[in-house]
Amino acid sequence: SYDEMTLIRQRNVNPALTTYYSKPLALHQGHKQWLFDINGRRYLDMFAGVCTVSVGHAHPKITKAATEQMDTLGHSTNIYYHTKLHEYAKKLASKLPEKLECIYFVCSGSEANDLALLMARSYTGKFDVMSLKNCYHGMTYQMMGLTSNNYYKYPVPGAAGFFKTTNPDVYRGLWGGNKCRDSPVQTDRQCSCGTECEAGLKYLEQFNYELIHDIPKGQLAAFWAESIQGVGGTVQFPKNYIKGVYERVKNQGGLYVADEVQTGFGRTGDTYWGFESHGIIPDIVTMAKGIGNGYPLAAVATTKEIASGLAKAGHFNTFGGNPVACTIGMTVLDIIEEEQLQENCKTVGTHLMLELEKLKSKFPIIGDVRGKGLMIGVELVEDRVARTPLKPDKMMKFWENCLDMGLIIGKGGVFGNVIIPPNINRLFINSNALLIFRSYASNRRCAL
Ligand code: PMP
Repeated sequence: SYDEMTLIRQRNVNPALTTYYSKPLALHQGHKQWLFDINGRRYLDMFAGVCTVSVGHAHPKITKAATEQMDTLGHSTNIYYHTKLHEYAKKLASKLPEKLECIYFVCSGSEANDLALLMARSYTGKFDVMSLKNCYHGMTYQMMGLTSNNYYKYPVPGAAGFFKTTNPDVYRGLWGGNKCRDSPVQTDRQCSCGTECEAGLKYLEQFNYELIHDIPKGQLAAFWAESIQGVGGTVQFPKNYIKGVYERVKNQGGLYVADEVQTGFGRTGDTYWGFESHGIIPDIVTMAKGIGNGYPLAAVATTKEIASGLAKAGHFNTFGGNPVACTIGMTVLDIIEEEQLQENCKTVGTHLMLELEKLKSKFPIIGDVRGKGLMIGVELVEDRVARTPLKPDKMMKFWENCLDMGLIIGKGGVFGNVIIPPNINRLFINSNALLIFRSYASNRRCAL
């Protein structure tokens, strides 16, 4: 029961692991886009785990493949060969640009980025790393240096060598944002004001300045970015910004690391990987979340040459490339292809964006609707003109109202006011979801 679990939680679970809702939600079962609590109540899981369940909860193909693999060989470690690791490495590499052929399997997004940091530093022999001010790359001790300190509350003494650059924000803007802000509804929100993006160029200038100012020439090991910021609140970059950054980073002798933990595996619709939409080929790609449909699986892909730096340094992990995890990862790739889930992201995402834009025109609480494919964020505001973020207590109420009405959504953004609605590659947009959204957006139902 809830009471028993609460008691155990208080006694035996580290209190750092807080539950999202004021009343805990105890889950029992999942099916496609649905979750069921221990009392049998059904929820539409638009958060898809934590943006992890890319092909749907309890997909029968995954259950079958994983069970068969467990029956055959449930565990093997990197010191032995096993077929699944090799088949999967080959298949995953085939989804990436040719030069990113070398895969290292790990168990979480943080671990993948941590390992990529080690690779970048050992290959370049340099130490300094730059990331964006509102980025999220994980919660290992090193990743806390790379990740924005918006998301944790204690100092990280080991954070030497980490530099943050100004985060582009086409919604609120820093410079000339008005041009972006006043533009009509865009279908391609990668840039909200076309190629002559004044703000985009300013952000690039600013990046250049900070790079030169903070990191002596020749000292940059790597620059890190998500292709669309997820935890930061579905933040898309002005057109050509990432490409410009990439060129400057390469000019300084640094590596470009693309964190595809949220944007990978077709979620953004147009492309399989988010970096493709920026017209770049990264030196290292990190991936997690959707890669294993919620199972602990993550990977780092890079070139042979860069990987050789790590080989020289020597590295080992016990669970990376576990046969069951590899089987699941391989099945996820198959399902995305067979069920055309990338195309589904595009179709459903486009439809949902249009519907959300309609809601925006009706309800002033919606300040901005942005994203691509099924990576969509809806920014809630107190005042649409001033763009004041919705206050945390109202946001909490909104969020809990959603749960009361049977809808699980995510929350992100530096102000915690961006709802992250559709995160599942295979989400079926049904009248139910839209109806629920409609009622949430109305002040009446939200009782704000
Ligand atoms: N990178 C990105 C872009 C993420 O969103 C996350 C998780 N929110 C991570 C890395 C860290 O992944 P994990 O929680 O699996 O360590």
